[in-house]
Amino acid sequence: MTGLDDYRERARRWLVANASPGDENESEIERAKRFQHALFSAGYAGITWPPEYGGQGLSTDELVAFNEAAADFELPVIPLSIGMGMAGPTILELGTHAQKSRYIPALLRGDEVWCQMFSEPDAGSDVAGLRTKAVRTDAGWLLDGRKVWTSNAQWADFGVILARTDSNAPKHRGITMFIVDMREPGVTVRPLVVATGEAPFNEVVLDGVLVAQDAVLGEVNRGWEAAVAMLRHERVSIGTRVQKRANALGFDNLAELARRRGVTGDVTVRRRLAEAYVRESAVLAYGRVLQAEGKAGIEVGPRGSVAKLAGAELRLWQASVAQEILGPDVALGDPEFDAVALGMVAAPGVATAGGTNEIQRNIIAERILGLPKDGGIADRNTPFNRIRTSRRAGHEAEG
Ligand SMILES: Cc1cc2nc3c(=O)[nH]c(=O)nc-3n(C[C@H](O)[C@H](O)[C@H](O)COP(=O)(O)OP(=O)(O)OC[C@H]3O[C@@H](n4cnc5c(N)ncnc54)[C@H](O)[C@@H]3O)c2cc1C
Repeated sequence: MTGLDDYRERARRWLVANASPGDENESEIERAKRFQHALFSAGYAGITWPPEYGGQGLSTDELVAFNEAAADFELPVIPLSIGMGMAGPTILELGTHAQKSRYIPALLRGDEVWCQMFSEPDAGSDVAGLRTKAVRTDAGWLLDGRKVWTSNAQWADFGVILARTDSNAPKHRGITMFIVDMREPGVTVRPLVVATGEAPFNEVVLDGVLVAQDAVLGEVNRGWEAAVAMLRHERVSIGTRVQKRANALGFDNLAELARRRGVTGDVTVRRRLAEAYVRESAVLAYGRVLQAEGKAGIEVGPRGSVAKLAGAELRLWQASVAQEILGPDVALGDPEFDAVALGMVAAPGVATAGGTNEIQRNIIAERILGLPKDGGIADRNTPFNRIRTSRRAGHEAEG
């Protein structure tokens, strides 16, 4: 057994002992914080992050070995995923020593939760179209604006926000990234309820929120570069977060579903299950490749979009296989299929979160395949744009 096999086996044994659902009265956020704290105490939090800030300082080999062991467990990691997968890596990349010392150890211990405030009602895929403003005053920066789709804001202690700091500069130049304390006066978090009945994301209103001068992450007016860095971490984080069991639509669960329905002899179902196994294995393997490349110092860059797109396409496809196995029963409210039904309803959201599939395809086309740059869809002669133009003309005529 190599040292790495030994590490993987020790991690697996630790997970067997510590990944149980625990007390049923415990809330999702309490469980996530408790689990993160246990990871930290056992030396499995921030495996590749610098020891100076509470990480383990190990190589990507150990990270990959841990993730291989973890793929078989359903871990309560979602509430802390933006901190661990996006805010933390961005702070490590762009933050000052003071910011790293203040935020990274608390994040690794599971003490503080993060959210990401990029999207706005009129700035989704086109993040740089944002209107939230930050104005410099003697006391700090004053933030005003409205964000949407803000996952985990209901629990968040801190958020990473993009705001316009120079309205005269070209669209991508006058943006700055800040760290906001979500408990500051002027921050209002309103849950947005989705088809599953849950409220996984929120609207966040910022009304004269004051943040300190040193809350800038990166450089003033260089927030677009900071945003690109965070989005890169986001794509790798989402794209490589394929847990076999945590996903109710994962291969193991689909196979179990087919067994329970007594349809494992059906040739179509058998073919779908074989394909499910192959597709899931390919996405898992690609995620491991991206993680391993970190070790060799290879820039993942736009290939994070491949992982994100492949993971989202996999989820949509798995949802269609679950639908084939269960037929109409999945919609009839049988509690036995609740987790599968929730997974199916949530699948399209995976294709939107972290940048839509179309946006990932544009990135892959332009930055990996070297195809000509997309001019955006706003001015194209599409049916949607024709309707929009005629509506606008109608409004102008009325007004
Ligand atoms: C579950 C979930 C969680 C999220 N969490 C967060 C979060 O925590 N923080 C955050 O800031 N955001 C979050 N988002 C927002 C997400 O990252 C997307 O950026 C956002 O939803 C896309 O914007 P939109 O919905 O306004 O769609 P639009 O940008 O209006 O796009 C509408 C449609 O047009 C397509 N489209 C747009 N531009 C192009 C183009 N150039 N070429 C081809 N097609 C195009 C899109 O693919 C889409 O199908 C989340 C979204 C979801 C679903």
